[in-house]
Amino acid sequence: MNLSERDHRFIWHPYTQMQTAALPVAIVRGEGALLFDEQGTGYIDAISSWWVNLHGHAHPYIAQKVSEQLRTLEHVMFAGFTHPGAVDLAERLLAILPPNQAKIFFSDNGSTAVEVALKMAVQYWFNQGIGKTTVIAFHNAYHGDTFGAMSASGRGAFTAPFRDFLFYVVHIDAPLKGREQESLDQLERAIKRADVAAFIFEPLVQGAGGMVMYDAPILDTLIQLCRSHGILTIADEVMTGFGRTGTYFASDRLIHKPDLICLSKGITGGTMPLGVTSCTQTIYDAFLSPDRRKTFFHGHSYTANPLACAAAVASLDLLQHQDCQANIKRIEEHHRKFILRLNDHPLVKNPRVLGTIAAFDVESKEQTSYFNSLRDSMYEYCIQHKVLIRPLGNVVYLMPPYCITDVELHKVYSTIYSMLDSLRGQTENVVLK
Ligand SMILES: *Cc1c(COP(=O)(O)O)cnc(C)c1O
Repeated sequence: MNLSERDHRFIWHPYTQMQTAALPVAIVRGEGALLFDEQGTGYIDAISSWWVNLHGHAHPYIAQKVSEQLRTLEHVMFAGFTHPGAVDLAERLLAILPPNQAKIFFSDNGSTAVEVALKMAVQYWFNQGIGKTTVIAFHNAYHGDTFGAMSASGRGAFTAPFRDFLFYVVHIDAPLKGREQESLDQLERAIKRADVAAFIFEPLVQGAGGMVMYDAPILDTLIQLCRSHGILTIADEVMTGFGRTGTYFASDRLIHKPDLICLSKGITGGTMPLGVTSCTQTIYDAFLSPDRRKTFFHGHSYTANPLACAAAVASLDLLQHQDCQANIKRIEEHHRKFILRLNDHPLVKNPRVLGTIAAFDVESKEQTSYFNSLRDSMYEYCIQHKVLIRPLGNVVYLMPPYCITDVELHKVYSTIYSMLDSLRGQTENVVLK
């Protein structure tokens, strides 16, 4: 039995229909933007392994820093104790986060970073004896898979089985181009109707919802409206953080900075799980009291794991280096040329770029959705051509590690062009413009 068959006997994979999915590709080694299977075949990781990898696989500098940490201190509980990695990382993050951010709270992944932000926002009001509990979020949002994160996410197939268990959230339309006023009107109405505790959003790009992009000025307006009504704002930067959108954080493009920021995915350069929720001094202060019931009662066994912190500090060293910043710009420039060429393609709708993220929709008779059946043939085509993409239904996107070479990037682009040509053959599902 090979590795994939042994896997299939005992393992249940995430977001995978185990009855119909192909056997998983077994990866035994990674280097730069490449992942290698047992036969030594290299696949270009054009989506950074679910958006986590920044500097390439098995990066020697991160590996060295993590292994040094592993020989020094692998873990210590984080209540009543601290360690150099956590302190260094908090200082380093606050130096690049928006200036209103003052405190760092650690957890383990993106969903928990969101849970923490929601709980902080709700308890912020509770601790002051103010009965504000409603959360506002965007339709089509994705904030993670735990119950609180699912509640804030747009309601759809992922959340349907749990509908009765999700807390009440007012969903408004995201402010897409030409629809900004509707979104603003809906926010105004929601604020009038309910005692709103917080507004949570993915800044500038709704990731899992289909790489849906919108502009900073309208988000600024929405944040400003919330602030003028004393509503806390939460930027879920789990996907957009650490250079993905061209700046360190998507919030860097905002005038009105969010009160809470959720980080994960790229934080360790894709090495290991870590979540961070940062907040303002005002939020932190609302939990200070001689009354111990005002404590923030939240924590995970592996909070601020020293290995994860070491990986994160090493990843920041690399990210802040001018070479990495130049790479981010280089990728965006190449993406822009690629997207410009795609503009004329009869199967391509709404090509778009923000920083290192490029995306487009493929024309289809079915609606644009995660379940669009074009997904499987596009995924399979690219895997056969040794390029790892993972379309969100008929939405194709690229989000490569920053170290991807020009040669690799052009191999990805040419594979996408030839994939589109191959789709023209199967016109039963494709609408020609
Ligand atoms: C991936 C993602 C999450 C969830 O992070 P996990 O680490 O997968 O739990 C939350 N919010 C956004 C915007 C994400 O893209």
